[in-house]
Amino acid sequence: NLTQRLAKVVKTMRGEARLTESNTAEMLREVRLALLEADVALPAVREFIAKVKEKALGEEVISSLTPGQALVGVVQRELAAIMGADLGPEAYELNFATQPPAIILMAGLQGAGKTTTVGKLAKYLKEEKRKKVLTVSADVYRPAAIGQLETVTKQVGADFFPSSANDKPVDIALAAVDYAKKHYHDVLIIDTAGRLGIDEAMMQEIAALHAAVKPIETLFVVDAMLGQDAINTAKAFNDALPLTGVVLTKLDGDSRGGAALSVRHITGKPVKFAGVAEKLDGLEAFDPNRMANRILGMGDILALVEEARKGVDVAAAKDLADKIKGGGKFDLNDFKAQISQMKKMGGLSGLLDKLPAQFQQAAGSADMGQAEKQVRRMEGIINAMTPQERAKPELIKASRKRRIATGAGVQVQEVNRMLSQFEQMQSMMKKLKGGGMMKMMRSMKG
Ligand code: GDP
Ligand code: MG
Repeated sequence: NLTQRLAKVVKTMRGEARLTESNTAEMLREVRLALLEADVALPAVREFIAKVKEKALGEEVISSLTPGQALVGVVQRELAAIMGADLGPEAYELNFATQPPAIILMAGLQGAGKTTTVGKLAKYLKEEKRKKVLTVSADVYRPAAIGQLETVTKQVGADFFPSSANDKPVDIALAAVDYAKKHYHDVLIIDTAGRLGIDEAMMQEIAALHAAVKPIETLFVVDAMLGQDAINTAKAFNDALPLTGVVLTKLDGDSRGGAALSVRHITGKPVKFAGVAEKLDGLEAFDPNRMANRILGMGDILALVEEARKGVDVAAAKDLADKIKGGGKFDLNDFKAQISQMKKMGGLSGLLDKLPAQFQQAAGSADMGQAEKQVRRMEGIINAMTPQERAKPELIKASRKRRIATGAGVQVQEVNRMLSQFEQMQSMMKKLKGGGMMKMMRSMKG
């Protein structure tokens, strides 16, 4: 597992203040291996490593992190970015900005999951986007293919345009477009034939379909289990057709999903959807951050963070954990200790830097500056209390509140608010039974 391997290298990199050519070389070798193990194709791996190297070199390392941990952060961020984390939400949306029907053409090898994905898309468009959807099959080579599309279409309650295996694919598609116009369908999804391998006749056929119907979306459907071969398939389809997006299917399998990176490398097009089940509700919006963690096998980066924290104040953390586990009460002295530990780790924003990107995104939408200010005010209030009051907050009645407020330079209401927030936190701590801040974060992960 990459996390373990990285953790080993991370240890040897302690005490250096920035990332350099020499202290990143070994780490990058591990990352390269991990990507190859995850079935990312070699050209995509090379490009990625070069990019990370460029980003990482010279990057300052936050005081409580080792260069190794900092590099893990760069790797995760860059991987997510390459797979589209930096694109706006519109990059993942299907485009409907055309005279109806908006035509979606499905392309991909046989068995990739095209027909299933048509059913899933029809369901999604009907239920989430309130579209009137028509489907049609231009797969005239396998007699069962047309019936399969009819079945999934009826299952999701969309409309199906019947076709015959004796007709030509282009004629079928044009007849369906005509029908969709007459019946005011918003969307027409055209399912196509695939072959087991890349084949010139198949490419010509789908290119001809594309030219005839001029779809607004041309989705390349690719099986995540395809591994290294994904890159050749993607290249063939990308050369034959102006793709607008990718659907990565069978992510519920045990592949590490390296195909996502390979396909992105070749097509430059965003993965718009992920297939996560055979069932027709098994379609999800693609999540680049989650995919990056999956490819790197890095879901457990929090273990690394905890490692960093241990270096900060292992004794204090253990005291606290023992205290709570032993049924002891989490009091304001403990709270004060937690705030100062957090400050040692670079404050709230420093803490944030160590979290996986999906947390960073979630927290990034909150106002960190504001939260930081809030914590400082809380600390000021706690500092204005006597040790006795911190150990027994229930002692704090009206006159003490006034004294504390004056001491901290805040209004009495703020002392009240702080005390009630603390009470909430106390009951949350009780539920968590030990572990404090880190445990709380880890519980957010699941
Ligand atoms: P097509 O030849 O490209 O039309 O592929 P199909 O839609 O017929 O799918 C081939 C097989 O893959 C079928 O057995 C599907 O049930 C299965 N399949 C498609 N998408 C997924 C997915 O996201 N997860 C899983 N587990 N199976 C899928
Ligand atoms: Mg099919």
